[in-house]
Amino acid sequence: MFLAEPPTTQFDLHFRIIGFHVRVTPFFWLAAGVLGHSLAVHFSYVLQDQSPTIGVLLLLWILCVFLSILIHELGHALAMRYYGMNARIVLWHFGGIAVPESVSSFVGFGARTKPHAQILISAAGPAAQLLLAIVVIIGARLGGFRVDTWIDWVNSTFALTSDNLVDPSPKVGVLLTFLLLPSISWALLNLLPIYPLDGGQISREICTLFSMSNGTRISLAVSIATAAGVAAYQFQKGFMFNAVMFGMLAYSNYQMLQNYGRYGGGFGR
Ligand SMILES: [Zn+2]
Repeated sequence: MFLAEPPTTQFDLHFRIIGFHVRVTPFFWLAAGVLGHSLAVHFSYVLQDQSPTIGVLLLLWILCVFLSILIHELGHALAMRYYGMNARIVLWHFGGIAVPESVSSFVGFGARTKPHAQILISAAGPAAQLLLAIVVIIGARLGGFRVDTWIDWVNSTFALTSDNLVDPSPKVGVLLTFLLLPSISWALLNLLPIYPLDGGQISREICTLFSMSNGTRISLAVSIATAAGVAAYQFQKGFMFNAVMFGMLAYSNYQMLQNYGRYGGGFGR
């Protein structure tokens, strides 16, 4: 369900960056806005006296998400270029896809590319996004700002100490949060071994390296188990939207496994 490229609309935004054609569908802005709305409301309370409206905060959030996901897709596209494929980028409501121009079904489950190339191409997206996060964190710390006040778990995860550093002003803090939160969470989410996320592609390649005949089946089983596990966890935490999304992923993977058994591969087109 994530595989087919969304149809073009007259409201699409088109531009080129470092030689790649980028298309942004209107649903991308809409989804980013829906995703960030409660965060914008939250920060409008935090920033009370400094008076950016919810609308301005939401706009800033959408721009940060756009930058972050564009960098993710540029990571994939650059890796494809490294392997001699020209790619274009589409940003839409589930994030983005980098589509090789020559083989349009490249992202399909049945498509074949050399395993090490596919692993590198799939990993390059999350890696680019994490690199952005690291640059932002280093930049903030060089600027003398503490990052942990705004994203506690960044601090605990990277074991950063924050002696000598001051809290960023609320406005800088919001900018840091808006850049780091989507970059780190999107990258980590995409590394889960769930098809069709990047981690699912990587897991399939690794499983296939170990077992040519059963690799795809094993990776689909891993994918179903992981998606079902994440769905249960999100359900328990009360994040119903996430629970439903991962539940649907588990189900679509289950269907793929069934079809795989029946037709022996070649699906995902
Ligand atoms: Zn990706």
